[in-house]
Amino acid sequence: MLAITGPHDTPGVMKAVHAHLPKPHDPFTDLVPPQGIKLTPNHYAYLKISEGCNHRCTFCIIPSMRGDLVSRPIGEVMHEAENLVKAGVKELLVISQDTSAYGVDVKYRTGFHGGKPVKTNLQKLCEILGELGVWVRLHYVYPYPHVDQVIPLMAEGKILPYLDIPFQHASPRILKLMKRPAAAEKVLARIREWRKACPDLTIRSTFIAGFPGETEAEFEELLAFLKEAQLDRVGCFAYSPVDGAKANELPDPVPDKVREERKMRFMEVQAGISKAKLKAKVGTVQKVIVDAPGVGRSMADAPEIDGIVKFKGGKTGTFETVKIERSDAHDLFGTLNSLR
Ligand code: SF4
Repeated sequence: MLAITGPHDTPGVMKAVHAHLPKPHDPFTDLVPPQGIKLTPNHYAYLKISEGCNHRCTFCIIPSMRGDLVSRPIGEVMHEAENLVKAGVKELLVISQDTSAYGVDVKYRTGFHGGKPVKTNLQKLCEILGELGVWVRLHYVYPYPHVDQVIPLMAEGKILPYLDIPFQHASPRILKLMKRPAAAEKVLARIREWRKACPDLTIRSTFIAGFPGETEAEFEELLAFLKEAQLDRVGCFAYSPVDGAKANELPDPVPDKVREERKMRFMEVQAGISKAKLKAKVGTVQKVIVDAPGVGRSMADAPEIDGIVKFKGGKTGTFETVKIERSDAHDLFGTLNSLR
């Protein structure tokens, strides 16, 4: 017997076998490092936990292209995460089409990590990723009720207090047409609870303006939600008919011009919210990960989609602390604590 592993722990079995019997040389794969080939900078990496989606949002064609949800075994995900961390990654960005559904397809079956049984679900995955000692950021979280369970892990500092959760709209009728969960008051109440439990929580979301059938009153409802929810980071798309999407068959499409105009109005409201939120950070000290000398991201900023923190100095791939001195609608500006 070489080792004791659990069922489905293929990486564990292979590791034990290869400790005694080295793999034959394969010229095609032997030059690939254990963490795989990354297209991102060395200090952060995307960690894909599943493929496909069980939802059928009417504006989306992903399920018809990628199929239903297929979760990767939790041991395999952790094996990749550990290799990335060993290779110097300091921030893991958890992605999928539907991160909160992780494990639904395998009925949350028990997998194995480090020789121990672990359930295949988002909460457990966050718990063990949180033990790797790097930033862990969650993306594409569908607003299921059980998302509430990861908020305490954020409050305890195990994973970043950051939730990328696309709400898409706030009008119950439009959400129903979109085939999304339709209860804006419940969402507002949950956001209040999340913030009570984790005051540093950053919420990023995306919305669609000008969905087929959206009336002016329903769009106003969306703006009212936005003002009430005070989300930290928001993206808005004017509805764009994707070939093959069910939403294209809905009656009363909104004219192009109106869609664009609503998007602009939406972004104007959000710019005011974002500006005030960032201004409130002036005078605070923020931990940042340095993407390039002079450019970092705080816990509230995911790469590519959120703002940045600008300062003088810093070495790529290190953590620094920055005293925030100024802000605008998107970014923060400050001085490295080590230079003060
Ligand atoms: S929008 Fe997201 S949740 Fe909805 S069907 Fe597409 S991938 Fe799934």
